[in-house]
Amino acid sequence: MDRLLEGLDPEQRAAVEAPRGPVCVLAGAGTGKTRTITHRIAHLVQRGHVSAGQVLAVTFTARAAGEMRTRLRALGVHGAQARTFHAAALRQLRYFWPRVVGGEQWQLIDRNKLRLVAQAANRVGLSTESDSLRDLAGEIEWAKASLVAPDDYPNAAGRTSRDTPAPADQVAQVYRTYEELKNQAQLLDFDDLLLHTAAALEEHGEVAEEFRDRYRCFVVDEYQDVTPLQQRVLDAWLGQRDDLTVVGDANQTIYSFAGASPRPLLDFPRRFPEAVVVRLERDYRSTPQVVELANEVIKWARGRPAGSRLRLIGQRPEGPKPTFTEFDDETLEAAAVARRVKALLDEGVSASEIAVLYRVNAQSEVFEQALAEVGVPYQVRGGERFFQRAEVRQAMVALRSAAAHEPTGELPKVVREVLAGIGLTDEPPAGGTAREKWESLLALVELAEELVTTVDSADLRTFVGELELRAEAQHPPTVEGVTLASLHAAKGLEWDAVFLVGLVEGTLPIQHADGDDAAIEEERRLLYVGVTRAREHLWLSWALARAAGGRRYRRRSRFLYGLVPDDHPASRTAAKREPLQKRPKPQCRVCGSALVDARAIKLSRCASCPSDLDEELLAKLRAWRADRARELKVPAYVVFTDATLVA
Ligand code: ATP
Ligand code: MG
Repeated sequence: MDRLLEGLDPEQRAAVEAPRGPVCVLAGAGTGKTRTITHRIAHLVQRGHVSAGQVLAVTFTARAAGEMRTRLRALGVHGAQARTFHAAALRQLRYFWPRVVGGEQWQLIDRNKLRLVAQAANRVGLSTESDSLRDLAGEIEWAKASLVAPDDYPNAAGRTSRDTPAPADQVAQVYRTYEELKNQAQLLDFDDLLLHTAAALEEHGEVAEEFRDRYRCFVVDEYQDVTPLQQRVLDAWLGQRDDLTVVGDANQTIYSFAGASPRPLLDFPRRFPEAVVVRLERDYRSTPQVVELANEVIKWARGRPAGSRLRLIGQRPEGPKPTFTEFDDETLEAAAVARRVKALLDEGVSASEIAVLYRVNAQSEVFEQALAEVGVPYQVRGGERFFQRAEVRQAMVALRSAAAHEPTGELPKVVREVLAGIGLTDEPPAGGTAREKWESLLALVELAEELVTTVDSADLRTFVGELELRAEAQHPPTVEGVTLASLHAAKGLEWDAVFLVGLVEGTLPIQHADGDDAAIEEERRLLYVGVTRAREHLWLSWALARAAGGRRYRRRSRFLYGLVPDDHPASRTAAKREPLQKRPKPQCRVCGSALVDARAIKLSRCASCPSDLDEELLAKLRAWRADRARELKVPAYVVFTDATLVA
């Protein structure tokens, strides 16, 4: 059999072998969607149906795009584009810019974005505190991704019942002012890359023609998280053609807060009635134990659209049961995770096969400290820190200015030369901060080395663009080590061992989701994404207090109910420690009736009950109560207040 078809199941094979044209794979986590599309690309190329250069595959994170390129290369496909929507758009925009806009290419806004939002908020008279600015920036991002212009914002926000960070007309004003300031400064934000690309193709016939002549076969991974803006770009790429393969899992929609929707995925068979539609349900990633837990998590999801109610069937050999552990405080949780990580490393599991996943980036710190204490190397994904380091910022300035002067030559060598100007030596310094600085700069050179293997004729400009994108997407270069990542950054990826930490109310689900059913369901899907990242070992943990000795006011996540086995110590201790949730209604310690009278509550018994436990009397009392309950047609436990008794 064809090598590319080996190791695929019949349904995967059907998607791989489908002729050029619309193909849709609707399937759960770990069922091989990404594998199917990489094999499909390789198959089409190998059979000569399309050349590698005519393929454009898009996905949602830089790491996922990188993995897809690696998988394609392993299948012998060289030169196919596998990028994030933004990276693909940036590349196209840079190319078309002289024709559609002209003049100097605008720079990516990078970290100055909040500064512009602050200026805009200031003009509108809104708070410029960092939290408010972040909320405003998030709202502008939602509007742009949802194709909502400033004038339409108040209506759109009302229609979708958004919890706006300020009155809607003021948010609209901030949005409008931000756009003006940004355009005056000739800057592009992340969403502008997509907006300008779509506009270039929609409004410039010859540009569209050239593009469509070059790219003929489109593939989208993680299609459940497509935004209207991304869909518009995709439609502009396609034109009237239908050579589009999409794969996704509606249960993994985790960006609807940012405008994404699984609708285009679920509606794909309606939009393209001739599409080949494939459903996969065998899970090849995880042990049956992990698969079972994943099925349990998603089983309780409410409002699942038809077409997303797939149940995963584990294919791998049995593995260890997922572990649930409760800790008194976060420091203890982090220390235990670090010890377990260390034990796994000692057993021979590679550091790159271990991940600690959390809901919000701020949670990483305590785990970073704990790992550092036991001497385990780690890398933080989705963390901004790499791009905030002084030497990296300095390097970006130097590289940008060198790119503006156009220095030529082999990219990694050029990058090394530029960075030598700011202190990159051939040999590493002995240690301390000098060594850390050297390692950051070297990571940039390694990134340049990686880029030339994946992008034909990558030059310094391409490299700077790549760095800007990574800075904006908070995607630092990869180093060998344990991965610390947010659940959002983990989608599409897999590790042998996964620690899902900080599973408490207010964190997962996140506090602001409370009271909003749709938002709570998105949080549940995040847990599903987390659980399904594990191949074999899965630890779920939570801590009842933040700091050591702090008040234990936290409760474990509501999503864990029904998942933590009843006979598990965590269940028992958690039950004991959940007074807010589980505190029983005050009852008479003698007869068990509910108490409402304050004095009776204080005494813990009904006024009519004997203070000393007299079994005979008690039995009589119970019988009397049962009769009275029958008489009143209420269940016996419902209660008799002291007043009823007296009556
Ligand atoms: P996600 O929804 O998390 O993105 P996915 O559906 O894209 O998951 P993949 O990442 O493609 O799943 O595959 C999950 C794992 O299962 C990978 O390690 C992949 O190599 C393996 N796998 C997929 N299909 C098969 C198969 N037919 N036989 C053996 N292993 C497979
Ligand atoms: Mg995938």
